Amino acid sequence: MARTTAQARRIKPGITELLTLHVIRREQITPSMARVTLGQGDIAKFVPMGFDQWFRLFIPVADNDSLSRLPQKLNALAYAKYLTISKTHRPVLRNYTVRAYREDGPSGPELDVDFVLHGDEESGTAGPAASWAARCVPGDAVAIFDEGIGFVQPAGTNSVLLVADETGLPAVAGILASLPADTVGIALVEVGATDDIQNLGGPVGVDVRFVVRPDARDTPGVAVLKATQALPALGERCFAWTVGESGLVAGARRHWIATGVPKDNIMFCGYWKASHH
Ligand SMILES: Cc1cc2nc3c(=O)[nH]c(=O)nc-3n(C[C@H](O)[C@H](O)[C@H](O)COP(=O)(O)OP(=O)(O)OC[C@H]3O[C@@H](n4cnc5c(N)ncnc54)[C@H](O)[C@@H]3O)c2cc1C
Repeated sequence: MARTTAQARRIKPGITELLTLHVIRREQITPSMARVTLGQGDIAKFVPMGFDQWFRLFIPVADNDSLSRLPQKLNALAYAKYLTISKTHRPVLRNYTVRAYREDGPSGPELDVDFVLHGDEESGTAGPAASWAARCVPGDAVAIFDEGIGFVQPAGTNSVLLVADETGLPAVAGILASLPADTVGIALVEVGATDDIQNLGGPVGVDVRFVVRPDARDTPGVAVLKATQALPALGERCFAWTVGESGLVAGARRHWIATGVPKDNIMFCGYWKASHH
């Protein structure tokens, strides 16, 4: 994961301990997106912050019990300790976004996580998190470590531009749900196919546009970067936020800087890296 300048102004979460949660249900919401709803366990301790709140997700590899070997707090020392856990028992660590949080689910608070089901499980190109999301069942345990939010609109900006591939779709949805109702701007979200488009809602003044990849084999992010470069110049008072494949976010940032957007008005975060970069 490539963290960036955004790190400095990221808003840290209220709690800093590891929370053990369980799968309540799993739903296939579009052909390439699975929604896993987590709850029970330590859910009462979770503090929802809205926007693009993200967390580190630990997925057990051997059995649910392997989570008990994790440190309760995550700092440099604890991370070093995590790495000493033998590979056969070390939970997989990946980053995900709070797609939605409900205080009042049928069995207590619920947290939705939307997983892109990339690659193909049989050929081993899917990755452990995507494979887990494809086959998890109610009761499965995971642990999360809250990391807070990255979207912090600088004072003096008066519009937003949100640019993401499908890994950033949950973050765009969270931001749209959290922005003040009078916000104006544009959201550009790339998805692999028309069937993967979701209705995101948000302020009426934010124009949400989906960009469908012209060819399923194209690297995610290329098409939405092109659409971003084709927009009229943003001006100095736009807050430009981009997440997704690292080539997309680097390209979008470069374009914005070259067209006069102040660096302080740009937040960018590489969510993943395509293997050929
Ligand atoms: C702050 C943050 C928030 C994130 N939120 C979300 C989220 O809410 N939902 C979500 O789906 N992802 C999200 N991501 C991205 C996610 O962490 C990565 O896609 C992660 O690599 C997936 O792990 P994996 O185990 O499935 O695959 P890995 O083992 O990491 O990778 C296996 C292979 O798959 C490729 N790959 C990884 N992700 C993708 C992809 N999306 N499409 C195509 N190829 C891919 C890799 O290049 C590699 O070759 C977020 C990332 C960050 C940093």
